[in-house]
Amino acid sequence: MNFDRIQLNRRNLLKAAGAGLVAAGTAGCSSSVKPQENPGIIGKDGKRVLPWSNWSGNQHCQPNERLVPRNEDELLTILRNATQPIRSVGSGHSFSALVPTDQTLLSLARLRGVENVDADALEADVWAGTRLSQIGDKLWEHGLSTINMSDIDTQAFGGALATSTHGTGKELGTLSTHVKTLRIANAAGEMLECSAEQNSDLFHAAGNNLGALGIVTKARIRTDKAYYLKEHSWMMSEDEGLERAEELRDAHRHYEMYALPHSDYMLGIAIDKIDPAEIPTDQAEPSGDAYEAFRMMSNLIDYMPFARSWLVNFGAGGVEPETRYGKSHEIFGNLRDIRFNEMEYTVPAEVGPQCLREILQTIKKQNIPVIFPIEARYIKGDDVWLSPFYKRDGFAISCHNFHDKDYKKYFAAIEPIFWKYDGRPHWGKIHTLKAAEFAARYERFNDFLRVRKEMDPQGLFLNDHLRSTLGIS
Ligand SMILES: Cc1cc2nc3c(=O)[nH]c(=O)nc-3n(C[C@H](O)[C@H](O)[C@H](O)COP(=O)(O)OP(=O)(O)OC[C@H]3O[C@@H](n4cnc5c(N)ncnc54)[C@H](O)[C@@H]3O)c2cc1C
Repeated sequence: MNFDRIQLNRRNLLKAAGAGLVAAGTAGCSSSVKPQENPGIIGKDGKRVLPWSNWSGNQHCQPNERLVPRNEDELLTILRNATQPIRSVGSGHSFSALVPTDQTLLSLARLRGVENVDADALEADVWAGTRLSQIGDKLWEHGLSTINMSDIDTQAFGGALATSTHGTGKELGTLSTHVKTLRIANAAGEMLECSAEQNSDLFHAAGNNLGALGIVTKARIRTDKAYYLKEHSWMMSEDEGLERAEELRDAHRHYEMYALPHSDYMLGIAIDKIDPAEIPTDQAEPSGDAYEAFRMMSNLIDYMPFARSWLVNFGAGGVEPETRYGKSHEIFGNLRDIRFNEMEYTVPAEVGPQCLREILQTIKKQNIPVIFPIEARYIKGDDVWLSPFYKRDGFAISCHNFHDKDYKKYFAAIEPIFWKYDGRPHWGKIHTLKAAEFAARYERFNDFLRVRKEMDPQGLFLNDHLRSTLGIS
């Protein structure tokens, strides 16, 4: 979610007005962040085990053991000697309950780094515990860049692969589609290698594995020659944004939109490769405080809900176009100084703008109290069995609300619209689907279950959420 790109020129006015009202009426209530108060428990080895929560704070658990193996051998020993279920965790950036467990939580944070870079073959090995942000710099040293990236880069590589994490681009697939070969340990503590040619069923299941097949330790990825990017963002009317969506998608390497609920506006962001010689030397720094402006606007609207549409249009109408330039990984990786909860569904690319229009109309019609921008991205189809982009080009629509505001009513009103357009949820984001609904959406669902059972006959890698989404009792 690219919130820090949105510059509200009239934000100071809104901030001042919002701050006054909020101070008068809600001292200490809405966005205060409580320090972590839970000291955890004493685990079976006598050591303290800290509780876990995800990035947005909507998922929590108290594992009775936390393990961080130092190498593949140590991981295999852990698996061979396991006496209770194990859930793997990356950087905790999923909103769905993929990670929570009251038993063993296992992180590959010590298995990190980029190795065996082959600049001629445009390939490199990436350990699963590597943060996505650590990949770009390392590749750049060898004259390479990642092919694409999600809109943040703080996820662990293994976590990103588990849920088909994606960026945007008509001709660009998810991060899993860049994988050439993968190493994954099964529940018996055996290391398996897979690719499109070797153990190909495992490979097609592992590209969106949910941490349910085993522990991915490393992958060899395809890369691109190092490139620079130019990112241009501008505000247009909602109608223009929806009508020109396909044209803009076709004209740019990456294109995405941010629709502003209750407004008549939409932000377009186009990103393209650029020759470094064309980059101006006097780049303006983005102000970066759009979060505060939106937070204040949101608080203000809580007190003046009747003025919501006017206020949002007032702010959005003042947004100036902006252009940024940089190395590929500098432009891709956005910083997030705002916490939110998120639902994302991917609908077939050709009905994407229509679905987005219906969502925006529903928000207006039902007067849903949300102003958080809705992100919409085009992603190329793939052949990963449980990928939301399986065998179809997709249009991913992401709805957010501030982490400390109620998102449930909002998402409950929107989710049926996604179903109407044959939407498939992002596995790492909030949804209410269960196994029968997934089976109806994914023709290889049962094949995934078969491979899962071969990898893990006793359900070592399952938690309650996975049992219900995969239909395993
Ligand atoms: C601010 C924010 C921005 C985001 N932006 C995007 C975006 O642009 N595009 C997008 O598609 N998604 C996006 N997401 C969602 C995010 O990319 C996914 O939920 C991703 O899976 C999170 O990775 P993680 O490392 O945090 O994994 P976690 O959330 O910790 O775990 C996710 C899954 O990965 C499994 N896992 C972790 N490591 C391994 C391993 N080594 N082997 C096997 N399984 C493993 C876990 O068991 C779990 O099932 C965003 C999320 C946030 C909070």
